[in-house]
Amino acid sequence: MSVRAWTMSLEDREKLIKAAFEAKEGNYSPYSKFPVGAALLAADGTIVKGANIENASYGGTICAERTAIVKAVSDGIRKFVGLAVTTNVKSAISPCGLCRQVLREFCALDMPILLVPGDYPQPEEPKPGYSEGGVRETTMGELLPDSFGPEHLELPRRS
Ligand SMILES: [Zn+2]
Repeated sequence: MSVRAWTMSLEDREKLIKAAFEAKEGNYSPYSKFPVGAALLAADGTIVKGANIENASYGGTICAERTAIVKAVSDGIRKFVGLAVTTNVKSAISPCGLCRQVLREFCALDMPILLVPGDYPQPEEPKPGYSEGGVRETTMGELLPDSFGPEHLELPRRS
C-alpha cells in the first residue's frame, strides 16, 4: 500500500462507514439484487447518502455513488473530503468506471475512498492493502489514474 497523508479522522471514518450502510437501505435493485450504499463527506462536514436505483430499462440505472454526488451537487455541495461505499458482498467492491469519472469531476485525486465489506467489521487481521475491519482504503487517483478532468479543459489550445 502506498504511503499517503490521510485527511480523514477516525471519527469521520466511522461516521462515513455507518452512513454508507444506512444509505444502502435506500436501494432499489429488483433486477441485480445487488444493493449498494455510498456516503460522501463534504468539506463542511455534511454527509450525503446515495443508493443504487435501478430501472426496468436497464440503461436508466443509477449507481449509489452517482446518486450521492448528484444529490450533493444539486444541493450546492461541491467540495468533498471522503467517500465510503458498501454492498452486501463480503469483500471490498470498487466503484464502476462510469462512477469513477463522475466522481473525478468534484473529488481531488488524493481524496480518501473507503471500500467497505458488507460484513464490516471483519474480525480477522486485515490483509495487506486493507485496514481495520477489512476496509480497502484507496483514493480517487488510484481508482482512476491518468484521468481527464475539468482542469484539462482550461489548457491552451490550437485555434
Ligand atoms: Zn457506478
